[in-house]
Amino acid sequence: MRVLVTGGAGFLGSHLCERLIELGDEVLCIDNLFTGTRSNIEGLLKNPRFEFIRHDIIDPFKAEVDQIYNLACPASPVHYQHNAIKTIKTSVIGSINCLGLAKRLNARILQASTSEVYGNPEVHPQPETYHGNVNPIGIRACYDEGKRCAETLFFDYHRQNKVDIRVIRIFNTYGPRMAINDGRVVSNFIVQALRGDDITIYGEGTQTRSFCFVDDLIEGMIRMMNQDQTLGPVNVGNPSEFTVLQLAEEVIRLSQSKSKIIHKPLPSDDPLQRRPDISLAKKHLKWEPKIQLEEGLKKTIAYFKMLLK
Ligand code: NAD
Ligand code: UDP
Repeated sequence: MRVLVTGGAGFLGSHLCERLIELGDEVLCIDNLFTGTRSNIEGLLKNPRFEFIRHDIIDPFKAEVDQIYNLACPASPVHYQHNAIKTIKTSVIGSINCLGLAKRLNARILQASTSEVYGNPEVHPQPETYHGNVNPIGIRACYDEGKRCAETLFFDYHRQNKVDIRVIRIFNTYGPRMAINDGRVVSNFIVQALRGDDITIYGEGTQTRSFCFVDDLIEGMIRMMNQDQTLGPVNVGNPSEFTVLQLAEEVIRLSQSKSKIIHKPLPSDDPLQRRPDISLAKKHLKWEPKIQLEEGLKKTIAYFKMLLK
C-alpha cells in the first residue's frame, strides 16, 4: 500500500509513519515543518520505503497513493493561535486539496478531527451524536471551526463525489515527541517538573481532560482507516478522566520533582470537562486503549528526561 500522511513530521504523524513502515507500507510524508521537525522522522529518512516532502497543504499537490491520512494542522492552543488565519486555512483549504486528490486517485482518506468539535460540552461524556457547543468567534474558533468545517467537507465530498472517507475525533493524546515548547498540558507539566520550575495550572485546575497514550491512539487510527463498517465520525481516546490538578500531582509524583504548583488565569473558552464515549470505537474498531495514565506518563517522562540531558 502507498500511503500519504500529511503532518507526518509532527507528534502523532511521526508515530503513524513509523507504524505504517513497520506494517510494510510505502509512506509519503508531507509537512511544512511548522510544528513538526526533521528529528521526529530522522529514524525513517534512510528507509527506502519512506519519502519526505516539505510542502504546505494550503498549496495544491499531486501524489500517487492508495490511502491518505490528513493530520496536517497545529494542535496545541499556543501554536494554532499563533497564526489563527493560517490555522483555519490549513483545515479548510488543506482538506479541500487532500479531498480533491483522494477523488482523482479513488483513494481512501482519513481526517484527524478532534474532540474540540464538541467545544465546551454540555453533554458528558461526549458521544458522536452530540453536535457540540463551540463559540464561533472566540480564540479557539480558528481550530474548532476549521476542524468542524473540514468534517463538513469530508461528508460533502462523500455525498457529492463518492469519496471514500473516514473521520476520527481524537481526544487529548500525549507521549514521546510532543514538542518541548508545545504548550499542551502534559508536555508543559513534565518539562516544568523535570526542570524544577513551577507547575502552571490555568484556573483552579478543576477542569477535566481524558488522556490517551500515543501508541493506543495510532492503533485506533489505523483500525479506523482499514475497516468497512463506518465512515465515522468515531471518537478515539481514553475515557479515564482526570482534573488538571490531579494530572499535575501525578506528574510531580512520578518524576519525583520538588516543583511547586502555581495558578495562572484560565484562557477564554477553555472547556470545563471532556471525556470520550468510545462505544462506537469498541463496536466498529474492536478497539479500546490499553495504556493507563501512570504507565504512559512514565514513558513520556523518560523521553523528556533524555531530551533535557
Ligand atoms: P503537531 O503540531 O505535532 O502535528 C501537526 C503537523 O502538521 C506538524 O508536523 C506541522 O508541521 C504540520 N502542519 C501544520 N500545518 C501544516 C500545513 N499547512 N501544511 C503542511 N503541514 C502542516 O500536532 P499533533 O498532536 O501531532 O496533531 C496531529 C493531528 O491530530 C492534527 O490535525 C490535530 O488537530 C489532530 N489532533 C491531535 C490531538 C492530540 O491530542 N495530539 C487531539 C485532537 C486532534
Ligand atoms: N493547562 C494548564 N497548564 C498548562 C497548559 C494547559 O493548566 O501549562 C490546562 C488548559 O487550560 C486546559 C488543559 O490544561 O484546561 C488542557 O490543555 P491543552 O492545551 O493540553 O489541551 P486542550 O485545552 O486543547 O484540551
